[in-house]
Amino acid sequence: MTRKHNFSAGPSTLPLEVIEQIRADLPEWQSIGASVMEVSHRSKAFSDVLEQTETNIRELLAIPNNYRVLFLHGGASGQFAAVPMNIMADKVSADYCNTGYWSARGAKEAAIYLQANEVFDATKADIQIIPDQSTWQLSDDAAYVHYTSNASIRGIQFQETPNVNNILVADMSSDILSRPIDVEKHGIIYAGAQKNVGVSGVTLVIVRDDLLGKAWDKTPSILNYTVQAEKHSLLNTPCTFAIYVMSLVTAWIKKQGGLKAVETHNRAKAEKVYAAIDANEMYHNPVDPSCRSFANIPFLLPSDELTEKFLKDATEHNLLNLKGHRTVGGIRVSNYNAISMEAIDALTGFMQNFANKA
Ligand SMILES: *Cc1c(COP(=O)(O)O)cnc(C)c1O
Repeated sequence: MTRKHNFSAGPSTLPLEVIEQIRADLPEWQSIGASVMEVSHRSKAFSDVLEQTETNIRELLAIPNNYRVLFLHGGASGQFAAVPMNIMADKVSADYCNTGYWSARGAKEAAIYLQANEVFDATKADIQIIPDQSTWQLSDDAAYVHYTSNASIRGIQFQETPNVNNILVADMSSDILSRPIDVEKHGIIYAGAQKNVGVSGVTLVIVRDDLLGKAWDKTPSILNYTVQAEKHSLLNTPCTFAIYVMSLVTAWIKKQGGLKAVETHNRAKAEKVYAAIDANEMYHNPVDPSCRSFANIPFLLPSDELTEKFLKDATEHNLLNLKGHRTVGGIRVSNYNAISMEAIDALTGFMQNFANKA
């Protein structure tokens, strides 16, 4: 066994059981004499996988019947454009919560189609915090309110679903299927698959029925929720392999006991990492405890030199991909569902030793 402890932010670690299942399914799958990569997306074998994946996702997230589940292309970044195009209708602005890089990217893309108002900016303070909702700058005439449930780069996570008197849209790319959520508080939820739900190539979109039929008439069909819902995500060839992997990952999550169980495990792992940060002067996490993320845990060391040394020594200890995003530097521990307690224990042991030695 040569697999190392991989804390990559995305694409990221898959459960070993899933990888072994993929290997077993190649080159010959479900007694059809070919692999999943080689058959039509309209074949019975693939249709069954698509249906099963949707069933798993509906069950795990307790998605009400008045929501469609779509499997689209283009990643979360494609949805940055799809959201305004599909639901702005005759509105000219939308409200965007800013918790860092990805929410800003979402707002910037939306600004091609409408005015993107900033509801708050959580990134300015020395200790970053999601401000109390009573201080949010919401506008009466906004088409919707957009938030990023987990800011994967800064490690700022909403602990609860915001309460707004408007259509709520969430980018859940880095924490979907890592905890239970209130789907019914949302109009749209979207997520690229490559953090917690599988491999890159497929984008999950959950959209409430009443938001269909409103798309701007210049919306490309491929991004049009109404068209894709009518075609059951088969307007063109979907990313069949990524959907197949999603079917395996969602089955694995069910086997772990569902979202309450994985959340408990994720929080227990994260607590150990934060304890190691808070116990050592050398490490600093610049996020208020009220919104620290269990999914991505960034921290800073006192100098670039020590950061480089930390990364180099970590790699030698088989702890991989801990480099922070280039926009914030430092270290980032991505603690998605498939990260084991064993990996976290190896990491926190290393952090303690490194701090003691320096
Ligand atoms: C990774 C990430 C993205 C980008 O996803 P793509 O699928 O590469 O477009 C967007 N939002 C968040 C919160 C992410 O973590």
